[in-house]
Amino acid sequence: MANLIFHVDVNSAFLSWEAMRRVKAGEADLRLIPSAVGGDRDKRRGVILAKSIPAKAYGVKTGEPVGLALQKCPSLVLVKPNFRLYEMCSAAFMDICRKYAPVVEKFSIDECFLDMSHTERLYDDPVALAYRIKDEIRDTLGFTVNIGIGENKLTAKMAGDFEKPDRVHTLFPHEIKDKLWPLPVESLYMVGSATAAKLKKMHLLTIGDVAAMDEDMLRILMGDKLGLRLHRFANGIDDTPVAEAPREAKGYSNSTTTEANVTDRDTALRILLALTDSVAARLRADGAKASSVAVTLRSEAFLDKSHQKKLPRVTDITSEIYASVEDAFDELWDRRTPLRLLGVALGGISWEEEAQLSFFDDEEREKARKLDRVVDDIREKFGSGAIKRGSTCFDTPDVGKKHKAQMDLKRNRK
Ligand SMILES: [Mg+2]
Repeated sequence: MANLIFHVDVNSAFLSWEAMRRVKAGEADLRLIPSAVGGDRDKRRGVILAKSIPAKAYGVKTGEPVGLALQKCPSLVLVKPNFRLYEMCSAAFMDICRKYAPVVEKFSIDECFLDMSHTERLYDDPVALAYRIKDEIRDTLGFTVNIGIGENKLTAKMAGDFEKPDRVHTLFPHEIKDKLWPLPVESLYMVGSATAAKLKKMHLLTIGDVAAMDEDMLRILMGDKLGLRLHRFANGIDDTPVAEAPREAKGYSNSTTTEANVTDRDTALRILLALTDSVAARLRADGAKASSVAVTLRSEAFLDKSHQKKLPRVTDITSEIYASVEDAFDELWDRRTPLRLLGVALGGISWEEEAQLSFFDDEEREKARKLDRVVDDIREKFGSGAIKRGSTCFDTPDVGKKHKAQMDLKRNRK
């Protein structure tokens, strides 16, 4: 019996999630006007993370600098990313998927794979089931998804990328010739612009051209690993299993895969701050403290790198942890490699009371604690999407800066 895999992908996730939040609050629907998520309008910094269809009509592209997007479309409404809202919406639609699928793999913040293999006794028509899941997400949560159906993850994902939004597509083996092969090479999964340019130079313009190419020749021309992968993907072959991620509830870690590559420090730090805040809040809710923190980054090429730092002291204060997160990030990232995933994990968890250091110190920390308490309270009352920490909140407690100064001193001494 062949396997059956669904790929569920939210249509312009960041933008529709923000739009949905605003519509619920009685505001205008961002999806109907030229709008985009990302960057800072005044400083003209950062990149476009997601855009509306009307913005697309102006030529606004995901991943391009905000300044350029504003040149193309001066009336563009820019909204700041809100990763806490995204985490909430992400969890909500994946919960709906879990009602129907035995195994769900969160692939990124707005995408998951469902392993529907051997469920034919439960559901006789996979396409009808996909429509049911898609419609339930749209009708209960207020945003749309595409669902792709195939016999493996690759074909399911490729099918999900066909016409959008709010659609179900299949890509079964007998459909590969008609549906996959006519597409341009750059639409093949994992083919970036550099690989696409190389393939085009060799007159391999469509996925079908790559599929028809001799496998050994492709491995010689494109490198062993990439050549093999391209040949397999172009032929719709993939045998990676749908793997449920290990539950993170026990550990204090959180990570997010972003919809578009993150290439600027501001956006990366905003994501890391939201992640730090969410793990620190969990820590505080449990009355625990941490003594180390690790930052994980995944590059566009799917390479993971981690860097751990000992915290200057055992703590549960967001601003103190974040200061070390920022340092770890700066030491880890080369400021060039586009990032696809960012993660924060706390370690050295203890439940002991910490020793008081000095009165001065405690006063400052008390301020920081008060801020954490306010944030935690609001979150508890109104849900985790209700509040977002601006980095300005961190101007109050000087812990971060002081820590930085100490670090600089240490570095200068070396
Ligand atoms: Mg998406």
